[in-house]
Amino acid sequence: MTVTVTGQTQVLGIIGHPISHSLSPPMQNAALRQLGWDGIYVPFAVQSGAVKTALAGLWSLGVQGFNVTIPHKQAVMPLLTAVTPLAEAVGAVNTVWRQATGWAGTNTDVLGFIAPLRDHGPTLQRAVILGNGGAARAAVAGCCELACEEIWVVGRDAQKLQIFADSWQESPLRPPLKVAQWDQLLDLLPSTDLLVNTTPLGMHPHTDQSPVDAAALGLLPSTAIAYDLIYTPSPTRFLQLAATQHLTTVDGVEMLVQQGAAALELWIQQTPPVDTMRQALKTHLGLG
Ligand code: NAP
Repeated sequence: MTVTVTGQTQVLGIIGHPISHSLSPPMQNAALRQLGWDGIYVPFAVQSGAVKTALAGLWSLGVQGFNVTIPHKQAVMPLLTAVTPLAEAVGAVNTVWRQATGWAGTNTDVLGFIAPLRDHGPTLQRAVILGNGGAARAAVAGCCELACEEIWVVGRDAQKLQIFADSWQESPLRPPLKVAQWDQLLDLLPSTDLLVNTTPLGMHPHTDQSPVDAAALGLLPSTAIAYDLIYTPSPTRFLQLAATQHLTTVDGVEMLVQQGAAALELWIQQTPPVDTMRQALKTHLGLG
């Protein structure tokens, strides 16, 4: 379908670097077309060091709102006039919108993370999160929202793990967080309800990799959920192995859809066409 851009067309977008492989433009533009909203969603490649200038430019050009992706999710925060308590707690902003006095920011990754877990019945007592990077922060906040009683973050670098743990000390979310090295993982698994991969292990093109092997997954209770934030490929090797153990599996596609839907709703104040967004994403990923 052709998009007609007129003098009244509103501009939304995403800043990051690199940005050319972002899946948000096809997903958000499909939604805008479905709604008949006179707007367009554009990728903006913004180098580190140019974020302040970029925000001033986007403001002057009348852009209505934008997403923020790697590597700017933290760098953008001091440049905003308002940041939601959730984004403060996570320490990262992925969605920015225009207010009278300047840009305001929030974090919709947390909502995206939670969305596919909402229907999974009883409270998840122990969550184990593999990796301690940016996505792990959204996962920790999401596990807090889901009222997990224990949240373990497993990493390979003791110093980074300690910094990660310390960074939550002042958080109003007060996560019941503990950190562990990979060699402690096997001891944690028999009582784990939710195992989340936030490392890039298994991501295209390294599709034969998995953060854990079948034997480790076999230690999980039969009711456990294996959740991979990776969305390409889908399913990953991790989720394939989990399926052979008859575990419930969740891939990263729905998180991507739901964080985008929450951002769109903020910008245009309309209910987003989630099915259209999901289908556009799957088509783009070659998932049918
Ligand atoms: P990141 O900030 O770079 O963090 C990656 C984490 O993985 C780090 O803690 C890193 O450890 C760890 N790691 C990397 N390679 C490893 C290895 N070989 N063995 C063990 N640990 C390893 O990246 P991110 O932004 O959190 O993203 C992580 C993944 O989540 C990516 O695949 C991304 O596509 C996915 N993601 C999905 C969504 C979604 O909507 N579905 C949203 C965000 C992210 P060190 O700190 O020790 O280097």
